[in-house]
Amino acid sequence: MSFDAEFDVLVIGAGGCGLVAALAAHENGMDVAIVEKMDRVQGNTVLSSGSIPAANTRFQRAAGVVDSPDVFVEDLERVAGRHDAPELTRRLADISAELVEWLVDKADVNMTLVETYKHIGHRVHRLHSPPSRRGSDLVNDLLKTIESRDIPIAYGNPAVDLLISPDGKVMGAITETKTGERTAIGAKAVILATNGFGANRELLARFCPELAAVPYGGSVASEGEAIRWGEELGADLANMGAYQAHASLADPHGSLVTWTVVEKGGVIVDHQGNRFGDETIGYSAFAAQELEREGPFYVIADTRVRDVTAGGQEEYAELCEHGGVIEASDAASLAQRLGMDPVRLSATLGDAIAAARSAVQDQYGRKAWGLGPLNAPFTATRIGPALFHTQGGLKVDMDGRVLKQQQPIPGLYAGGGAACGISGAKGGLGYMSGNGLLGALGLGYLAGRAAARDASASPV
Ligand SMILES: Cc1cc2nc3c(=O)[nH]c(=O)nc-3n(C[C@H](O)[C@H](O)[C@H](O)COP(=O)(O)OP(=O)(O)OC[C@H]3O[C@@H](n4cnc5c(N)ncnc54)[C@H](O)[C@@H]3O)c2cc1C
Repeated sequence: MSFDAEFDVLVIGAGGCGLVAALAAHENGMDVAIVEKMDRVQGNTVLSSGSIPAANTRFQRAAGVVDSPDVFVEDLERVAGRHDAPELTRRLADISAELVEWLVDKADVNMTLVETYKHIGHRVHRLHSPPSRRGSDLVNDLLKTIESRDIPIAYGNPAVDLLISPDGKVMGAITETKTGERTAIGAKAVILATNGFGANRELLARFCPELAAVPYGGSVASEGEAIRWGEELGADLANMGAYQAHASLADPHGSLVTWTVVEKGGVIVDHQGNRFGDETIGYSAFAAQELEREGPFYVIADTRVRDVTAGGQEEYAELCEHGGVIEASDAASLAQRLGMDPVRLSATLGDAIAAARSAVQDQYGRKAWGLGPLNAPFTATRIGPALFHTQGGLKVDMDGRVLKQQQPIPGLYAGGGAACGISGAKGGLGYMSGNGLLGALGLGYLAGRAAARDASASPV
């Protein structure tokens, strides 16, 4: 087979998974190149809040947090239930602390332990993220390190096909620019870091039909090529019906209303002013409750919750600045501004406040009220549910090698949304905060190192 260019390792996709995989392979002596579909990095990692869970890091120990991979696995299994990749859960929990410390020490990513919230499912403070809580900062730090190591990124060069030898080994990929220029790139190892299939309505209809009409809040580049290429090679797929949804995408702003607003005491009501569930089941699980009802929905809190949250999370602060969070002196005035029955909304908030004071049991069973009962003046943001990313994908071994009938396909690796996740087998209930980036950066780290080991042992 002849190629226009050759590398030891070719990474397809310059998101969190691909950038980490490239750095890990390069650190292990490989000549690495990255091809990226878009003209700049704008995948889901950029859109995320950059939070990665890790158990027993030095940052946790310094903050007095007692944690271990065993406790982390218990949390993950409790939320996810049974699924197709339990051994991956164990593997990612085991390497999570090593990963976060490597990101800080070796990849020069500025990351701190999040101590102001735990988010869904985590019993201890375990999320680590850039101080701004923005995935764009995580990606910018990784890009600076990629540049400092002279690892080339070919932007605007989507991979359109894999190159396969007659005996079934993956030998590289073909890219094609918008102007139709095709390049055959040879590599001893190819890492698929193209994310999932959230932007591909056909694959969604096939694997997650309940999402057919739900807006997608992730990157338009997540078109599921890895699934197509994998299926052509006969690769095993796992957890294909699983995804992360989010119950609070600001409408019409399109930005995320962080779940911290709910965790600090906020409640979610429908357009008539009624609550309809225990919000503390989490943003992904609560989205399923919204999908069963007619929107729009509103997250209601108070100025104290708003200010505490905006103080720690830039994206929410920007939403406030842009008028996405309205304020009213009492429940009746808030209802008028939202076009609801004032008596109904006042009764709903009155019940929630009584439950938060422990005066009565909450009718939906909610027990955690963050900063305590809401107090006027109240705030409200119009929200709706959205799909954030799919969690099903190519089944991989403990080092990110893509499997076919449980055996690795020579030369092929996957991580992030391209690989299967650890968030349950089906639906949005099994997603725990940080599962997306743990699978992306964790499998990127493992696949980059494994690709380097395997490529060193196998000449093209
Ligand atoms: C709003 C939002 C908030 C989130 N917050 C969090 C969070 O705080 N914590 C968390 O764990 N998860 C979060 N997630 C999920 C998380 O962002 C993803 O799980 C993770 O970023 C996936 O990483 P990735 O590298 O696989 O994909 P991406 O970051 O999307 O990178 C994939 C890259 O591949 C490129 N690509 C695609 N196809 C091709 C092709 N054919 N050829 C070349 N390049 C290609 C894309 O353009 C893109 O640059 C969030 C998601 C969203 C949408």
